Amino acid sequence: MTVERLCDILTHRKDKSPHPRRGTGRGPEEGEMALDPKFIEILACPLCKTSVKLTADEKALKCVKCHRVYQIKEDIPIMLIDEAVIEPDRPTKN
Ligand SMILES: [Zn+2]
Repeated sequence: MTVERLCDILTHRKDKSPHPRRGTGRGPEEGEMALDPKFIEILACPLCKTSVKLTADEKALKCVKCHRVYQIKEDIPIMLIDEAVIEPDRPTKN
C-alpha cells in the first residue's frame, strides 16, 4: 500500500472532505456550494482574461469586465464565450 493510497483512505473517513471527489455516486448537496473559491480565483473570462465572480445565486460565474455570465453545470463552469450570456444586472457575490 502506498502512502498516497493511505492518505486517500484517511481523507475519505472524514465526513466533510474539503475537496469532495467526483464519481463517488454522491452528488453535491442541494443548495451547497460545490465549487472551491480558490478554484474560481484561478478562472478567468476567456474573452478579456479578467477574473470572474460567483453570481449571487451561485449558479454561474460572471466576468467583472464584460459582464458575461458563464453557467455552472454539474459543478463545472462552462467557460465558453459562445455559451455565455451578457447580463450586466446579474448580481454577484462580494
Ligand atoms: Zn469578460
